[in-house]
Amino acid sequence: MSKVPYRIYLSESEMPKQWYNLRADMKEQHDPYLHPATFKPVGLDDMKAIFCEELCYQEMNTTDRFIDIPEELQEFYKMFRPSPVVRAYNLEKVLGTPAKIYYKFEGNNTSGSHKLNSAAAQVYYAKKQGIKRLTTETGAGQWGTALSMACAHFGLDLTVYMVKVSYEQKPFRKGVMQTFGAKIIPSPSDTTEVGRAILKEHPGTGGSLGCAISEAVEAALKTPDCRYVLGSVLNQVLLHQSVIGLEAKAALEKVDEYPDIIIGSAGGGSNLVGLVAPFMMDTLNGTRKNTEFIAVEPASCPSLTRGRYAYDYCDTGHVTPLARMYTLGSNFIPSANHAGGLRYHGMSPAISKLYHDGYIKAVAVEQTKVFEAAVTFAKAETILPAPESAHAVRVAIDEALKCRESGEAKTILFGLSGTGFFDLNAYTSYLEGTMSDYIPTDEDLEKGFATLPKVE
Ligand SMILES: *Cc1c(COP(=O)(O)O)cnc(C)c1O
Repeated sequence: MSKVPYRIYLSESEMPKQWYNLRADMKEQHDPYLHPATFKPVGLDDMKAIFCEELCYQEMNTTDRFIDIPEELQEFYKMFRPSPVVRAYNLEKVLGTPAKIYYKFEGNNTSGSHKLNSAAAQVYYAKKQGIKRLTTETGAGQWGTALSMACAHFGLDLTVYMVKVSYEQKPFRKGVMQTFGAKIIPSPSDTTEVGRAILKEHPGTGGSLGCAISEAVEAALKTPDCRYVLGSVLNQVLLHQSVIGLEAKAALEKVDEYPDIIIGSAGGGSNLVGLVAPFMMDTLNGTRKNTEFIAVEPASCPSLTRGRYAYDYCDTGHVTPLARMYTLGSNFIPSANHAGGLRYHGMSPAISKLYHDGYIKAVAVEQTKVFEAAVTFAKAETILPAPESAHAVRVAIDEALKCRESGEAKTILFGLSGTGFFDLNAYTSYLEGTMSDYIPTDEDLEKGFATLPKVE
C-alpha cells in the first residue's frame, strides 16, 4: 500500500449530511434533568422557556440514531469544514515510536476551535423559530467567539457574559467578538439579580463559568424573543459535534485505519464525544472490541477522576436544571489554570454515564506537563495547540511512548480541538518557568462536595 498522506481530506460531497446521536445506541440513558426548585424531572415545557424548541427535542432524543443536518447549515459548515485528519509523522519520528498517531484538527476557523460546529447549529434553529436575540456565557472566549460569528452570519443579536478575569486578561478575544457584533458584559455584573447577589457576597470576585451561566440564563428568561445557548455539556451540543468523529472515521476508512486508542480533552465533554461517538457506536453494538477511549482533564479541575457521581446544579446561581454527573460541586472554583475551557465543575451527563459504566477512561494531567507536550507537538507538527487541546496531546504522547517501550504499533487518534493563538500569556508563563501546578487537596474538594444538593 502507498504511504498514508500527511493530511487526509474529505471532499465537500463526502461531508456528513446527518449528525450521529450516540444516545440512541447507549444501553442505558443518563438520569433525567431535575427542576432546580422542585427536584422533579424537567419537562419539555420547562426547557422551552430557556432553549429553542428544536434544540429541546434534540436534547431529549434518545431514539433517532441519525438526525439530518439542515441544508443551510451544511452550507455554513462548508466554509470551514471538512477539517483535516493529519498523520503526525514528524511527532512519531521525534518520539521514536512505532505507534501511528493521527489527529483531527478543529482550529482552522477564526473562533479557533470546534465550538463553531454547535454555535452555528444553535443559532440556525433559533433563527428558524423567530428568536431575535441570544445570551450566553464564555470563559476563555472560544465559545463566545464562535457564537458571535454564527450570530453575525444568521443575523441575531448576541449578549455574552464573559467571566471577568478572562475579560480583563483577554482583551483580544473581546475585540474579536465585538468585531462580529456581540455585546460583551463582564460577569458577575449588575445587570442581573444573580450577578448583583454574587457581587454583594464576593465583591471584587473575578467570576466563574457557573456564575456567568446563571446571569445569561436569567437575562434570557427576562428578555422578549430571547433564548439562552450553551457551548458544551448538553446532549444537543454533543450531537452537533459528532461531525468531528464522522469525518474522522470516513477519512481513516480511506486509508484503511481504525484507531486502537482515541483521546480527547474533556471540559464539558463536547469535543471528546464529538470525536469518539461514531467509534463508540461500534463498541456499543459489538462490531468492535478493545477500542480504548480516554478523557483527559486538568489535575486542577478533576471532575471525572476525583469528582462525585451525583445530582448537581449546572451553575453557581442555581437557576439551571440539575443533572446527574461527575461533579466537584457547583461552588467549586478551580485555581487559575490556563486551560479556561476545562475549568467547569461538572461533566456532560452522557459522558458521566459512559464513564460510570466503564466505557471511557479518564486521566488527569498537570499543567506544566501539558505545556511540555504542547511545545514538543508544536515544534514537530507546526501547529500551536490550544492549552485545552494540549491535554489530549499530552496523553497521546504518553501512549505513544508506552508503545516505544512495548514495541506495539498501535493506532492513536486524538482530538486537536483548537489553536493556542489567544493563549500566548500561558505559553510565555510556561517558557519563563513561572507556571505552577496547583492540585486541589482532598479538603479543598470536600468543600465543593458539601454544597451538593440533597436529592433523594
Ligand atoms: C471549550 C474547549 C474545550 C473543552 O470543551 P469540551 O466541551 O469539553 O469540548 C476543549 N478545547 C478547546 C479548544 C475548547 O475551546
